[in-house]
Amino acid sequence: MSFKKLNLIPALEKAITKQGYTTPTPIQLKSIPDLLAGKDLIGIAQTGTGKTAAFVLPILQRMKETYPRVTKTLVLAPTRELAAQIGESFSSYGEFLKFKHAVIFGGVNQGPQINQISKGVDIIVATPGRLLDLMNQGKISLKDIEFFVLDEADRMLDMGFIHDIKKIILRLPEKRQSIFFSATMSREVNELAKRLLKSPVHIEVAPQATTVEKIKQHIFFVDQGSKTQLLLELLKQKHLTKVLVFAGMKHRANKIALFLEDNNIRADAIHGNKTQNARIKALSDFKTGKIKVLVATDIAARGIDIDDISHVINFDLPNEPESYVHRIGRTARAGEEGTSYSFCAADERDFLRDIEKLIRMKIDVMDHEFHSETAKNAEGISARPIPRNNRGRANRFNNRSNNRRLGNRHPNRSSTREVGSRPSRFNNRPRTFNNNRSEGRSRGFNTRSERFNQEDSEERPSRFNNGSRSRTKTSPRKSKSRSFNSRDSRKSSFRRR
Ligand code: AMP
Repeated sequence: MSFKKLNLIPALEKAITKQGYTTPTPIQLKSIPDLLAGKDLIGIAQTGTGKTAAFVLPILQRMKETYPRVTKTLVLAPTRELAAQIGESFSSYGEFLKFKHAVIFGGVNQGPQINQISKGVDIIVATPGRLLDLMNQGKISLKDIEFFVLDEADRMLDMGFIHDIKKIILRLPEKRQSIFFSATMSREVNELAKRLLKSPVHIEVAPQATTVEKIKQHIFFVDQGSKTQLLLELLKQKHLTKVLVFAGMKHRANKIALFLEDNNIRADAIHGNKTQNARIKALSDFKTGKIKVLVATDIAARGIDIDDISHVINFDLPNEPESYVHRIGRTARAGEEGTSYSFCAADERDFLRDIEKLIRMKIDVMDHEFHSETAKNAEGISARPIPRNNRGRANRFNNRSNNRRLGNRHPNRSSTREVGSRPSRFNNRPRTFNNNRSEGRSRGFNTRSERFNQEDSEERPSRFNNGSRSRTKTSPRKSKSRSFNSRDSRKSSFRRR
């Protein structure tokens, strides 16, 4: 079916043609007619489904030009990157219309944003914190809002924006069209939707279990200490052209990027501690191919909209299976095929089980020289026996639903919140980042790699490592000595087991 059937105005059709779109995606087909009819909508859809155009096009069509300009549309997004990308969509789909928009987010000087708004904009795309800030300073008024979009609502809640969102909603006019998108539906998301929407149309596209089907997924059982080696070996393969690597923590993302750079692989890291400019630069270098690998944490990766990512590598498995679906969805964008590699260490084994349950399929196990039977046969952290002298504490930590409620997340796992951003006792768990291999081979390392290893072993407190009772304890292969350097020309072999 073509876009013609959607009755879009010529200016929008022209912009769509310019983008090279020929057929509407399922979410566009399902939502555009109802949104053009002025209905509220709740859409369950992930990024990569074309959901941005699904709400931007009808809003642009329904919005009336007024002079002087007043802000009639407000879009809230959880991250600066996503806000910027939605802003870009308003620019490209609205190229042949006269509307002006501003993108508002924190972490940068507010001056230019205030300047832009004071000249009059029809559309504001914002992250909640900065928007509230400017509203409280009297720089932004929401009294003329007619269209309100809450994008990636589940992430908003995960990131703790609920109070900001509630405050913003209270300042919106009663009479408005509200559009609500979320990748997943939970009780909290549903409650927020109810607060926001009036008799909404419900639309769900590509349930999670099916969107991932077109992605070739592989799992590598590996000890924590061999993950960097495995990563390096994989990245030597020529067909890995543009690779997004997910790390569970910000400092870990930094270290992986440094390690790759030291081994002559162009890489950078993107996470919440980086300045906005550094994030923009990393993204743009990745887009243009100046760097081959972008190492990201979950939150920073939200809104990364790059079409030709060849591979997603989960250096650390996420503790929330939905995040796995989000992550691998970064490849296979816009109908393309994609590949994902996931590293699973012993203490991540139960997360793999959760993922396979959610996607309702077994992920292909790869054979490789760093394969760990221990990891393969482990039960994972939630199956750990409870140390006798520490039952109260262990009980809490061993109960995954408690962990989620308390916000205690395993540092190795991505979480909906960047782990480094909230202190948790779990953060003291040991990190084994190549430490198994560092002894006796330091002469071959260059300086930064050495530092990388040292830092990791320093930050390894030990309490959890001592437990011989742990069923998930890893046992590194000892005898084989491997070079840490990418110039090493050993042939890599990866095949299905
Ligand atoms: P989104 O889910 O909004 O992040 O969009 C994912 C990607 O799909 C973006 O790169 C869009 O440019 C692209 N896209 C959106 N709609 C279409 C379409 N109808 N045909 C082809 N690509 C599209």
